[in-house]
Amino acid sequence: MKRLLKQKREPGAVPKNMIPLSIPVIKGNEWKYIKECLDTGWVSSVGKFVNQFEERCAKLADRKYGIACVNGTAALHISLLVAGIKENEEVIMPSLSFAAPAFAVRYVGAWPTFVDVDPDIWQLDPKKVQEFIDEICVVKRGKLINRKTKRVVSGILPVHLLGHPVDMAPLLKISRQYKLTVIEDAAESIGALYRKKKVGSLGDLAVFSFNGNKIITCGGGGMIVTNNQKWAKKARYLTTQAKDDSLEYVHNEVGYNYRLTNIQAAFGLAQLEKLSEYIKIKKRISKKYDQALDKINGLSVFSQAKWAEPNSWLYTVLVDLEKFGKDSRQVHRYLKKTGIDSRPLWHPLHNLTPFKGAYAYKISYANEIVKNALSLPCSVNLSSKQQDKVIQVIKRLSSE
Ligand SMILES: *Cc1c(COP(=O)(O)O)cnc(C)c1O
Repeated sequence: MKRLLKQKREPGAVPKNMIPLSIPVIKGNEWKYIKECLDTGWVSSVGKFVNQFEERCAKLADRKYGIACVNGTAALHISLLVAGIKENEEVIMPSLSFAAPAFAVRYVGAWPTFVDVDPDIWQLDPKKVQEFIDEICVVKRGKLINRKTKRVVSGILPVHLLGHPVDMAPLLKISRQYKLTVIEDAAESIGALYRKKKVGSLGDLAVFSFNGNKIITCGGGGMIVTNNQKWAKKARYLTTQAKDDSLEYVHNEVGYNYRLTNIQAAFGLAQLEKLSEYIKIKKRISKKYDQALDKINGLSVFSQAKWAEPNSWLYTVLVDLEKFGKDSRQVHRYLKKTGIDSRPLWHPLHNLTPFKGAYAYKISYANEIVKNALSLPCSVNLSSKQQDKVIQVIKRLSSE
């Protein structure tokens, strides 16, 4: 039995001697704050750390309200509910993304509508969104309708991918014109700036994630930020089991047990104190890779928009099979053999089974990027020696 358990390592788990892709770094006040929870007994979903964590996150995104959730996916689910996105409506989002935002859209019975990304910065392309609206949609009784599916398009869910912001200004213009609710998925991009404005401060609602692989973590956690008081109140109500009378247990709506615990918030708060330091380190790692890898024939590094200040969460390159001589998956396997973890990006969402009923508008770059992309080790505690090793191994591979 023991041996059986041993063999059953989680797929993708990193063995001890590997250079990991992106792991949490815990070196601040985490122990101190969590100990305080344990010592005082405030371990569950009420306590000063949850409140403080909410306040800090709201402030970080220049918003009035923060609502802590058990994870980013739950935060997206609640955001869609409070925004009133209904069954059989559609929400525009990029096909290149982690699946969580598209899942959340399905949780409320709505459908993601997939649009392509920009080939340079890999983010949802506002020009393509406009094209989709002009070509495929029609406005009827003040509502935007997808003519192909006959469904009402009621929201846009830009996902700030890999730490880089989406070009929000044209999307916000579109959203005003067609009355679409904008929910920013800023799960990967906390602390990034768009035209000097904070990611998370641009849409009607925004969501952060504190999953273990993000730039800062609380084990698992999420946050909704908004300026809309009504929605904030509703979000708090829904995430705490929709109690209308907490003595008599009267519920007038379907509630969710989605509130973050004080222990996790304590963890998150300590991590938040490190965010700007971590972003600086991430940027340094990213710059070093850029300088070393950009010169290699067949590798192209992630470009950054003039108006963007990314948090450089996950360093990713494109591998051109013809020029480099190997494809991204071959590079991945080779790196693994030499003790270096790496990983392709997410399978394009429009091709996945749970989204079979979704409409996808002319997607090509997302497919191309996913085919060639490979993320490289970039944890905050990646040593200079480790990074040199990654670079050397890739260089060696390129000259083989
Ligand atoms: C991680 C992530 C999420 C989900 O966050 P969890 O906290 O893991 O539920 C949502 N969207 C994107 C883009 C993510 O990367």
